[in-house]
Amino acid sequence: MSNKKRGLIWFGNDCRVSDNNLLIRANHEVDELICVYLPYSKITNSEGESPSFAKSEHLVKFEKESLGNLATSLNQYGHKLFSLRDFAHLCQVLKALQITTIYRAFHPGMYEQEAEKTIAELFPQVNVCGAHTGSLFHQSQLPFTLETLPATFTKFRKRVEKLTIVEPLERPETLPQAIVLDCPNVKSTLSQNVLYGHFIGGENAGRNHLCEYFSSQLPHSYKLVRNQLDGWENSTKFSPWLASGNLSARQIWHSVIQFERENGSNESSYWIKFELLWREFFHWYSAWHQEKLFHSGGISKAPQLWDDDTDTLKAWINGETGFDIVDACMRQLKYTGFMSNRGRQLVASCLIHELGLDWRLGALYFEHNLIDYDVGSNWGNWQYIAGVGADAKPVRRFDLKKQTQIYDPSRAFINRWLDKGWQKCG
Ligand SMILES: Cc1cc2nc3c(=O)[nH]c(=O)nc-3n(C[C@H](O)[C@H](O)[C@H](O)COP(=O)(O)OP(=O)(O)OC[C@H]3O[C@@H](n4cnc5c(N)ncnc54)[C@H](O)[C@@H]3O)c2cc1C
Repeated sequence: MSNKKRGLIWFGNDCRVSDNNLLIRANHEVDELICVYLPYSKITNSEGESPSFAKSEHLVKFEKESLGNLATSLNQYGHKLFSLRDFAHLCQVLKALQITTIYRAFHPGMYEQEAEKTIAELFPQVNVCGAHTGSLFHQSQLPFTLETLPATFTKFRKRVEKLTIVEPLERPETLPQAIVLDCPNVKSTLSQNVLYGHFIGGENAGRNHLCEYFSSQLPHSYKLVRNQLDGWENSTKFSPWLASGNLSARQIWHSVIQFERENGSNESSYWIKFELLWREFFHWYSAWHQEKLFHSGGISKAPQLWDDDTDTLKAWINGETGFDIVDACMRQLKYTGFMSNRGRQLVASCLIHELGLDWRLGALYFEHNLIDYDVGSNWGNWQYIAGVGADAKPVRRFDLKKQTQIYDPSRAFINRWLDKGWQKCG
């Protein structure tokens, strides 16, 4: 047996080479390295379990582009990115290649954490090197344990807002020698099929968008327009790149700080950081509550009975509920893979409080259709609106008529997305 140190970096939703502490560590710690990709759906095989919610074409496209870009970046270091079939395949590779260290970003999801525990049990001789590359804070920085995570966002924010957020790292200069595997590697792809607007997966596209956004004056008006239902410039649109890890939350945070240094700060620029703290809250919320994230009664309550009528659910999915604003938002999601934050609140409130359906059906549909699907942000927000999560208010029911008057008084948004002649042109 060779006494070389052999590392394996397991990419999931951290598809980037910059601000990636794991690559830097591997570069210093092992002689040889292999880069593999194994996403959540292949750990759980969840795609097979819920056939009615197969991943949308938008999500598949974004992930493909994101992976293709990562593969291209790794090629520049003489590395390939190997796409593994499933969790058993990962275990085979660890054994066959006699890996000594696995590099794996911390993931707050229950299935991901279970997979890591299983690896630690099956391969006690392998070092598992983790890092908090997806969040603003390292867990050790938090002024509380997960068990004592503040119960609401406001309490959380007040405890963490003044903590230092470490500067993002540059990409590594080199990587250890590549280990070769007899297995399909990810090919660089750039889809010609632009489905909507500017959402192209990958670190390059994410960084371009980051630069463009902060080269504009948009951060100075963010808070005034963030609730609009449509429009590329009305919110940052960072979420898809954050969800696949093409951008890190720290890169965005420090871009806001630089913008404020150069252009001055105002309530809007502060509010981008405020929203990133919401994401952070749900990250640690998921890490702490684990399977309770998916319970009908949420994090503390007894199981609740909800309706699961298939026809009603179909009507909601297809934008045929009769609530125009909800229908327009749901069609926007179907045609683009994206929906504004306000839209998400309205359609979730409708599913739960008007249609009486199980909030988890809505969350599951979002999971397979949003190009920015993120376990904590999705399930945490759904719980919040269902009144079974981290909210001081018992229930969040939106008055859909009133919301239409505020956010779409001329019905331009409704007409655009309900228009049957609307084509997939973005
Ligand atoms: C029912 C429901 C489900 C949701 N599911 C997801 C999801 O799967 N993935 C996801 O990233 N966001 C989710 N959100 C939160 C929010 O709607 C999106 O983050 C936001 O719309 C993304 O657009 P943006 O990047 O332009 O956001 P911006 O308004 O520009 O905000 C900047 C960043 O702050 C974070 N952020 C903003 N609002 C929230 C919020 N309410 N909760 C957590 N983080 C937030 C996001 O990372 C976002 O990219 C959900 C919200 C609701 C109500």
